[in-house]
Amino acid sequence: MSDIDLRSRIQRLFHESMRIILNPLKEAGQKSVKIRNSKGEMQQIHPFLCCYVADYPEQCLVSCSKSGTCPKCRQTADNLQSLTKESARTTHWTKSVILNAKENASESISAFSRTCLDKDVIGGTYDPFWSDPPYTDIHKAITPDILHQLYQGLFKHLVGWCQSIVGEKELDQRIRSLSHGQGLRRFKNGISALSQISGSERKNMAKILLACVHDVLAPRGVQAIKALLDFIYLAQYTTHDTITLSYLEDTLKKFHQDKKYFIDVGCREHLNIPKLHSLIHYVDSIKLFGTTDNYNTEMFERLHIDFAKQGWRATNQRDEFLQMIRWLSRQEKIDYFKHSLASRLQPLSDTPLQNVTNSASKRSTITLAKKPQYSSHPLQIIQATHNCPQLQHHLKQYLNNFLPEPLLNHQIQASIIPFNNVDVYSMFRFHPETIQDDDEDDIVKAIPSSMSHPEGRFDTVIFIDNENAEATGLEGKRNNNFNFHMVACVNTNHRNTH
Ligand SMILES: [Zn+2]
Repeated sequence: MSDIDLRSRIQRLFHESMRIILNPLKEAGQKSVKIRNSKGEMQQIHPFLCCYVADYPEQCLVSCSKSGTCPKCRQTADNLQSLTKESARTTHWTKSVILNAKENASESISAFSRTCLDKDVIGGTYDPFWSDPPYTDIHKAITPDILHQLYQGLFKHLVGWCQSIVGEKELDQRIRSLSHGQGLRRFKNGISALSQISGSERKNMAKILLACVHDVLAPRGVQAIKALLDFIYLAQYTTHDTITLSYLEDTLKKFHQDKKYFIDVGCREHLNIPKLHSLIHYVDSIKLFGTTDNYNTEMFERLHIDFAKQGWRATNQRDEFLQMIRWLSRQEKIDYFKHSLASRLQPLSDTPLQNVTNSASKRSTITLAKKPQYSSHPLQIIQATHNCPQLQHHLKQYLNNFLPEPLLNHQIQASIIPFNNVDVYSMFRFHPETIQDDDEDDIVKAIPSSMSHPEGRFDTVIFIDNENAEATGLEGKRNNNFNFHMVACVNTNHRNTH
């Protein structure tokens, strides 16, 4: 059996299996079904297949698109690096290509497949599964995918290009030399020796890559990397409006303006990469299906841990299937009970959803240890060890806010702090409510250098300072190196207890 015949059989097997799985949906779509809506009322609906979440090889298999081309539009494989979209592939168009090939090359499946491939369609089956369900446009249904397209796709390419420009050893050395920081993972041995890199590791690399290469690359190389990283972060917004979507389009344009840098320095001969081309479809998909967290494969991979791996661990590893089902159904009941209890204890407010989201994004809690790291530490020594010579000046200004009649600026300078020693806390826990990543390290540290930690650690924190804070950039935000802030925070505590 030839390769082309084997691939055709696999494709037919897949499409026939999907047809069986989706048969109930086809019937419901044609005849309609009654389901209960969120208000508890019965409604007559016609469900149809509108989103299909998959990685690139499966996207091609599902949509019958030739590997190396775009499953959503008719851009040719040798022009994927262009910023222009070609006319959309549609279910009707793909079916007509398959039908024409079937009529004109009916002598063998190989001839049929070759005729389809000339039109960038994989002709393994005469009858794809999406021919039947009503209203389905399989090409439109193919969604963006943050995990495989961006982190495990484009960002992986980006790291490879940086390694070839900077040198693997040099980049590893730079990554090893980075100081500790809040939310930053330390790659003690660099990144080149890592095998089987997970999505979470890619995310951690994305946080430090630009800082490690910016002085080696030409400005347009830095601009290109910055634009691509901006795109990756903007694409993960959990809410979007026309302004934030325009940011997404702008950053993509910026990347395309400077992308030739990677060809000029010899990283690539061309940038005809399907995953790079897929970025031009992000805005349309977000407008159609909502933000990307609705259809990111990361969620399903996460559910594999919650539902399969944890379920398996809860068993005695014998006849595990039934035990796993029982464990899952108990987890569900516990969750239902928790939600039911929470909704009875906290009745839903009438606050509009928009306000709830805004206030939640600004709310965060901070927790301190019960006892300070250093009790009653002299201010002079703190100034020296925390490298903050202006400590006393800032402390006076801070304390002035608490006076019933605050002093004027020149009076503050002449005033004397009525104590010499304060307690020092060298870290606090920070719990922003909107953090989605469970692995996020949320400890902020201010630790002076010592014999065991000669470099010390002073984390930088950026916080929203006023209502003008923008969704991108640092306008409206303030950056504090926490050597000052920690002590100021400590001092209030000290005042209260003494
Ligand atoms: Zn396309």
